[in-house]
Amino acid sequence: MLTNLTLPTLNFEPAGLAPFINSQTIDIHLNKHHQTYLTNLNNLLPLIQVDGVEFSSLEDLIINVDRVSEGKKQAAINNAGQVYNHNLYWDTLTTKANSESAKMSSAFGSALDGFGSYEEFKKQWKEAGLSQFGSGWVWLVTDKDGKLSIEKSSNADNPLFHGRQPLMTMDVWEHAYYLDYQNKRADYIDQFFGYINWQFVSDSFDKKITA
Ligand code: MN
Repeated sequence: MLTNLTLPTLNFEPAGLAPFINSQTIDIHLNKHHQTYLTNLNNLLPLIQVDGVEFSSLEDLIINVDRVSEGKKQAAINNAGQVYNHNLYWDTLTTKANSESAKMSSAFGSALDGFGSYEEFKKQWKEAGLSQFGSGWVWLVTDKDGKLSIEKSSNADNPLFHGRQPLMTMDVWEHAYYLDYQNKRADYIDQFFGYINWQFVSDSFDKKITA
C-alpha cells in the first residue's frame, strides 16, 4: 500500500541552477509548492486505498487513477499529478556543467535526431511552452518503439495519465519562473535548454525502451 511519500533529493545545490533559476525560487518551489501537493497526497492516500483498491507506487496510482472513487478522483489527479510532475521536473534539471558533460546513449541520440535537428527540437519545445495557455507543463514522451514526441498539458495533467511515457518535463506554471523572469516565459524557456539533465533523460529512455 502506498503511504508517506517524501520529497526527492535534488541532484544539485539550491544555488546550482543560477542564473537560470535562483535559490529562492528553488526553495519556494520545492519546500512550499511541491511540499503542499505532497502533504495533500499523503493525507489522501488512506482515503483512496479502500475496498480492495491499493496502489504500489505513484506511477501505479496515476496509470490506474480510474480505480479511485468518483468523489476523490479529481483530488487524486491534482495531487498525485503534481507530485509526479514536480519529481520529474527536478530530475530533468541539473547544473550547466553536468548538462554539458552528459553522455547520451547512441539509441537516445538517434531518437532525438528524429526531430530533424537539435535546433528543431528546441523550436518545437519552446512553441509548446509558449502556446500552453495558463498553468501547465511541456513533456518529452517516448512511445514503445522509441519514437520521441513533445506534448503539453494543463494544470496537473501529464502523459502518464493517458498511457504515454514521459522522459522529461518543464514546469510553465508562473511559480516556476516568476521571481526570475516575471511575465517573460520565453526567456525562462531559452535558459532551460542549458540546464537539462541529459544523462538522466538518456538513461530513462534506454530503460523504458529495453524494459
Ligand atoms: Mn511547479
